[in-house]
Amino acid sequence: MLTNAPKGTKDILPSQIYKWHYVEDMFKKICEKYGFKELRTPVFEHTELFARGVGDTTDIVEKQMYTFDDYAGRSLTLKPEGTSPVVRSFVEHKLYADVQPSKYFYIIPCFRYEKPQSGRLREFHQLGIEIFGTDNTMADAEVIGAASDFLESLGIEGLELRINSIGCPKCRENYRNALREFLKEKYESLCDTCKGRYDRNPMRILDCKSSVCQDLIKGAPVMLDYLCEECQAAFSDVKKNLDSMSISYIVDAGIVRGLDYYTKTAFEFVSNKIGAQGTVCGGGRYDHLIEQIGGPPIPGVGFGLGIERLLLVLESSGIEIPKPDGVDVFVAVMGEKAKFFGLKLMRDLRKSGFKAEMDIMGRNIKGQFKYADRLNAKYTLVIGDNELNEGVVSIKTMATSEQKQVALDKIIEEITK
Ligand code: ATP
Ligand code: MG
Repeated sequence: MLTNAPKGTKDILPSQIYKWHYVEDMFKKICEKYGFKELRTPVFEHTELFARGVGDTTDIVEKQMYTFDDYAGRSLTLKPEGTSPVVRSFVEHKLYADVQPSKYFYIIPCFRYEKPQSGRLREFHQLGIEIFGTDNTMADAEVIGAASDFLESLGIEGLELRINSIGCPKCRENYRNALREFLKEKYESLCDTCKGRYDRNPMRILDCKSSVCQDLIKGAPVMLDYLCEECQAAFSDVKKNLDSMSISYIVDAGIVRGLDYYTKTAFEFVSNKIGAQGTVCGGGRYDHLIEQIGGPPIPGVGFGLGIERLLLVLESSGIEIPKPDGVDVFVAVMGEKAKFFGLKLMRDLRKSGFKAEMDIMGRNIKGQFKYADRLNAKYTLVIGDNELNEGVVSIKTMATSEQKQVALDKIIEEITK
């Protein structure tokens, strides 16, 4: 027990962390270009932020939240998603009083009690963006464009962008009725969860992962046929925007998204290379969420992208993330005086911006050279008490084994060259 991470969680080891840094840095670069600013929220929030009412029918709220009482009896929940906390912060700090739109990004751990499998963890990581303050479909295009550019910047090809409109509360009601009508005779065959969804929110049945339910919904009416005029116009605008940006997509009427707060545009980037958990990125518009959370009626649109799934896609596509460079300078020392000199030199090198290392295990000189190799050092400085007396050190270029003598006070100058 003591030496096993909890089920569904994973350590990210130092040998792998460069991949995470690479992906996160690339994301931050895209966000900078697009003008998204980071907004950091706490790892836990009040439970009511996620479980907002009896109408909640999502998997997350129904059965996946890590909820606990603190010592003062407050119900808190580890955040299962990124959007609601950003909205909470936006409302709490009245950020809507600034010039709009507001554009935020986040990189966060998320927690969901799910059945762990490839691409599905209990602690996983999301990066995402949100635009608040406009229902203009240029914002939808901006969000989808940022996701698309980000994936492209990593060299990922062949992800499918699927888009849909899931309408607004007005037109969705007609659709829900049509869906109930269609499922009426099949009701008894639905899984227990979907039986519960039938009355409260039958659209969730479309997103059910059970193959029985998936079969039952074949031939069901689609939301796109029920859109009101406004939603239809918006969807057509989104498509025109994407066309003008040369972003290809397919319209997939089956996309409903896992969270109840979505309206109008819904989209996913899907990979066919990583098995059942193929959705790498999901997002859409949520025009009533900010109001639901207690803010003014301000629309929003955004996406969340699973970093673990993204890394699976990179791996399965054979895309290699560049490994970070090794140490610039290894300082090898022989003798007591040389050791003290080396300590100071290493510090000076680091202050001058170099990655510098020494052996701190007490290895002999042969061991130090081996260790310098392991660290992938570009240069090794060799300092012995004799060299110190003569006022020189020898610099070895590891790649060529070339060696030369340099005066003590010229070391940093020489390495900089
Ligand atoms: P799924 O249908 O696969 O359960 P979802 O609709 O629950 O996904 P979102 O809530 O939209 O997913 O989260 C956005 C992204 O976060 C997903 O597209 C996926 O890449 C990632 N994600 C969601 N749940 C998990 C999980 N349990 N483990 C790893 N990644 C996840
Ligand atoms: Mg899910």
